[in-house]
Amino acid sequence: MNKTQEDANVTRPIRKVVILGGGTAGWMTAALLAKVLGATTQERRIAIELVESDDIGIIGVGEATIPPIQQFNAVLGIDEAEFLRETKATIKLAIRFENWGAIGESYYHTFGTAGRNLPFCSFHHFWTRARQLGIEGSYWDFDLNYLSAQAGKFAPTTGNDPIWDMPYAYHFDSALYGQFLRRYSERLGVVRTEGTVRDVQRAAGVGDIMALVLADGRQVAGDLFIDCSGGRGVLIQQQLGTGYEDWSHWLPCDRAMAVPSQRHAQTAPFTRSIAHGAGWQWQIPLQHRNGNGLVYSSRFCSDDEAAQVLLGHLETSALDEPRIIHFRTGRTRRQWNRNVVAIGLSSGFLEPLESTSIYLIQSAITRLLHLFPHDGITAQLIGEYNRQSQIEMELIRDFIILHYHANQRRDSAFWRDLRQMEVPERLARKIALFAANGTLVQDQYDIFMEPSWAQVLMGQGIVPADYHPLADGPSEAQLRRQLAQLAQLKARPLDQLPSHDDYLQRLLGQPA
Ligand code: FAD
Repeated sequence: MNKTQEDANVTRPIRKVVILGGGTAGWMTAALLAKVLGATTQERRIAIELVESDDIGIIGVGEATIPPIQQFNAVLGIDEAEFLRETKATIKLAIRFENWGAIGESYYHTFGTAGRNLPFCSFHHFWTRARQLGIEGSYWDFDLNYLSAQAGKFAPTTGNDPIWDMPYAYHFDSALYGQFLRRYSERLGVVRTEGTVRDVQRAAGVGDIMALVLADGRQVAGDLFIDCSGGRGVLIQQQLGTGYEDWSHWLPCDRAMAVPSQRHAQTAPFTRSIAHGAGWQWQIPLQHRNGNGLVYSSRFCSDDEAAQVLLGHLETSALDEPRIIHFRTGRTRRQWNRNVVAIGLSSGFLEPLESTSIYLIQSAITRLLHLFPHDGITAQLIGEYNRQSQIEMELIRDFIILHYHANQRRDSAFWRDLRQMEVPERLARKIALFAANGTLVQDQYDIFMEPSWAQVLMGQGIVPADYHPLADGPSEAQLRRQLAQLAQLKARPLDQLPSHDDYLQRLLGQPA
């Protein structure tokens, strides 16, 4: 195999994986690697050891997810009711964005779809034509996720017809999820070592990492190291000096203030994202409390102002003092460097506007398993892994930038600046194509599909000037009738759906 000395020194088969860090990233990695690699033959069996520091602890935020988390749990064979109970989880059908387009307006980014897409001509083209004809109705009237979210209702399967599919994700306590996966991983043989890494041993001075050196002198040797050490990037940055690509010129928020508050009487099946003068506030309903926080830019808002905004907008009593978290938006220049793969916050940071960090962890582990260097690390494996990781993260970055850039607000320098800024070229092209005639191009590795882009673009006021000619197929009368029938059809299961709280209570056998 072709290897370059600089990028890949480990030519031996991988027999031991060491994971540094026991946050969400560390335990998700341990669980999936143990489950999947455990199925290899005895000769190829791979030992997994996870090192975490009780002194340092975990970041302890991160509560909203997107639907692929269900596949992650399914591969592990986790029972949904047990998972919901153990992590105090609730159901998430959508995010409600408030004051993003203009103050006083809101829209939902749901996990569902509006109407049926035809080949070459998605539903939003028909809706655009209907709008131009003056036919009344919102784009979201045809989306069961939206209708159920608004009604505060939920049940997983509503019929045999895919038209009633309601893709969903979860809100959960990520610290509890980590502990849940720790128990799972240890049952599969993952060894947990408590200790703080102070140094590493490297091959021939500056080569691959051979072992972690703990504060008490113990050494943890391995062939492949997964850096899940959070924002510190203990291995990928502090040891290997990989470098960081900073994206704060596009995404200027650099702080978050988080505080839990008492639960609401009714549990909403969606996340709220409320834009304020220099950032936005999240509200995430869990079974036992609400998670709240303000993501803001320190250039436009002091910590004291942030505390006033956040605490002033809490709808239930705070359960703790607010906590400030600093971050720098961007990504490590290489997610895989030598024999170190960075997963989780060590690989980069994107604010939680679209709840993508836990998904990025899942996707990174899946990618690693696809490209796993069973017989030794090669430059080709590293190159492919880094190529895919970079594109994936850039596409999510662009989607998040869209929310800021497409704002219609005039009330603060923060929003005015973001509206006027130059966005990445790929995003500029996407917006222009959509604005012209509703064209949306699905990029490979983009987790957000066409309906997601359409909802955010239209939700923030970018409505196509024209539509695809195929949408001219039905006559005006037919279009009117078809849309009315579709709206009725979509809403049909609503009467039968239980409230979100009733659903959780039935499933968990206890009041949520
Ligand atoms: P951490 O939780 O920081 O874990 C790092 C681990 O490394 C710890 O166990 C620590 O002890 C260990 N460690 C570090 N240094 C050493 C050392 N020297 N020796 C030994 N051990 C060490 N994601 C979402 O998907 N949805 C959300 O809604 C969401 N909200 C967020 C809100 C905010 C404000 C922030 C900042 C992030 C949010 N995220 C969200 C991201 C999410 O929190 C993280 O992706 C996730 O928690 C993974 O963190 P981690 O495991 O990489 O790091």
